[in-house]
Amino acid sequence: MQCLPGNKGERKLTMAVLLIVMLGIFTAVAAFQKYAPPAPTPVEAESPAAVLPLTGWRIVVDAGHGGYDGGARARDSGLWEKEINLAVAKQVEKALTQRGAAVFMTRTGDEDLCSDSRPAHKTMKREDMENRVALAVEAKADMVLSIHMNEYRDRTQSGPQVFYRQGCDSGRLLAGAMQEALIARLQPKKERAALAGDYFILQLDVPSVLIECGFISNAAEEKLLLSKNYQQRLGEAIAEGVESYAALAQ
Ligand SMILES: [Zn+2]
Repeated sequence: MQCLPGNKGERKLTMAVLLIVMLGIFTAVAAFQKYAPPAPTPVEAESPAAVLPLTGWRIVVDAGHGGYDGGARARDSGLWEKEINLAVAKQVEKALTQRGAAVFMTRTGDEDLCSDSRPAHKTMKREDMENRVALAVEAKADMVLSIHMNEYRDRTQSGPQVFYRQGCDSGRLLAGAMQEALIARLQPKKERAALAGDYFILQLDVPSVLIECGFISNAAEEKLLLSKNYQQRLGEAIAEGVESYAALAQ
């Protein structure tokens, strides 16, 4: 092998160029690996609805009373409970729908659920309640939320309170999550605990709760419950309660 002084310098130069080219290729490969396109996402994740926290949940929102049945009466304004229940129920519907749930309302206006063909032995109240339960069965509901306002002769009583059916574990879990969300969001003066209650609407096998949103016999709380802003906050709080239950249940 010839070894001319001039060639040694050239070889050094060639080696250096080769090294630079290899370094360049190596860097390019490394960069490509680093910025490789992400793995394809599952098809269902492409739909915006699929990422909402309550997608797939079928929820019955029951505005308590209505029509002939006014429920309790607000002490200062004289408004009937049925009107406030409906206003809050509509806010709950809105907040749940925004989170992806399919919502079924037992009523959307001032009406009861009695039919003209009611048998004589059955009271209007009984038939109204049975029809609310039947509606939840027909809707194949995963959950029932019944919205009410509380009242008591002692006007100092206040604070929202959630009821579930004794012996229904999922109902108790939902009620606990709901009570917690109501306290966190609304920060009521009186923090109540969820309780078992014997209400007709809670007889279904799916988690069901009756939410007494507050006392319309308490002057300060009545004012709050009648305000649109507080009704919206209640809707958000109730939807958050459902959301934290759904996260626990999955
Ligand atoms: Zn009521």
